[in-house]
Amino acid sequence: MTQNPQPDRFRILYVDLNSFFASVEQQLHPEYRNRPVAVVPTQADTTCCIAASYEAKALGIKTGTQVGEAKRICPEIVLVLGDHRVYADYSRRIVQAVERCCPVAQTPSIDEMVCELMGREQEPPRARQIALTIKQAIKDDVGETLRCSIGLAPNRFLAKIASDMQKPDGLIGLLPSQLPRSIAHLELRDIPGVGARTEARINAKGINTMQQLLELDRKQMHELWNSVWGDRLYHWLRGAETDGQTDSGGAPASEAAQKSLGHSHVLGPEFRTPEGAWAVAHKLLHKAAMRLRMEQLTASAMHLTLRYALTREQASGKLANGKSAKRHFSGLQHSGWSMEARFPPCQDTLTLLEVLRGAWAKRPEGAEFARPFFVAITMHNLVAESDLEASLFADADHRAGLAATMDKLNMKYGNTTLHFAGMLPARDSAPTRISFTQIPTQYGKDYI
Ligand SMILES: [Mg+2]
Repeated sequence: MTQNPQPDRFRILYVDLNSFFASVEQQLHPEYRNRPVAVVPTQADTTCCIAASYEAKALGIKTGTQVGEAKRICPEIVLVLGDHRVYADYSRRIVQAVERCCPVAQTPSIDEMVCELMGREQEPPRARQIALTIKQAIKDDVGETLRCSIGLAPNRFLAKIASDMQKPDGLIGLLPSQLPRSIAHLELRDIPGVGARTEARINAKGINTMQQLLELDRKQMHELWNSVWGDRLYHWLRGAETDGQTDSGGAPASEAAQKSLGHSHVLGPEFRTPEGAWAVAHKLLHKAAMRLRMEQLTASAMHLTLRYALTREQASGKLANGKSAKRHFSGLQHSGWSMEARFPPCQDTLTLLEVLRGAWAKRPEGAEFARPFFVAITMHNLVAESDLEASLFADADHRAGLAATMDKLNMKYGNTTLHFAGMLPARDSAPTRISFTQIPTQYGKDYI
């Protein structure tokens, strides 16, 4: 496979801001600089830090650390209430600064930018110079506290991996001639799109390390993924250049082909009220939205199903809708209702929650519908996020950015670390079946 080596060129430059929210706060408040700072969603000891400055990280305080714990570790820590609008504004200014050096092709999240290098820009010394110029432009135009890690690689997939390999203020280039050797020390979870579910599936097939994955040939990769994503991943990991739009930073999973995704739950007796059912629905929605994002999919239809327990008398007569009662496998006699809502493709919790709220308001009323005991939420019309990138990031409220921050926390610390308020009563009701392990941070060496 070495008789036709690829020329050593970088086609993609990937910018990832370091400790973005905390750095913005240090920029706005010079008195916070060189001090441990944590950005928090509310001022309460029971919430978690949503971002930590490098000084806080050095003490072991990080995204997800409980505020009470952070104060114990460092009583003088500066706690700042996060303001997403400010961060969104800084994000726009950073994009402008980067664009002084190189056009930004995509903004996958509030603190990430992708540039496509052209012509001689792709030559490693020039690409490196552009990366250094970008770092300086961000410092000059936006603020000296804003540092970033930049990844250079022949494709977007590897450039994202490279941007994660050295923090803070990193610059890593993955040269085609050094691939895949230069990524063999990484973890499987460092591969964009490989979440807990995919990793478990790969492990079950006997692949536990990146080294083992890289030893597979293309056919074996296809079999491992049981789809063409395996073939793609094989080529991407070796530096294959693919067309910009389809060169997704992830989704190497057969889930992209799946038709629907959802969760259901039988309510405990204490939750069999409209309020209890809503809290459970809220939690199921949160889980489904998080899975959409983990699997890098969007949905454009939501199916909501409710089943209601009936009294003996209700079950023996005709129901309001003219149908007769059904029997759940638990023995409960019940009536049911369901509806499907359509909406523009999305994956963020706030938008999906609005859709759910709309559907919820349409549920029937009356004696037969007083005791909900089963709730199911299913997402349909699933499309890989990479096919929709442009519209996703046209997202004016930066909901995608907020959702991504929530996911980072929830993946690290369990599904209910950070959630929207309506979910609280049901927090411990619907069991979390997906468990997440920590996403490792790699400190790679500078290959340039
Ligand atoms: Mg970042």
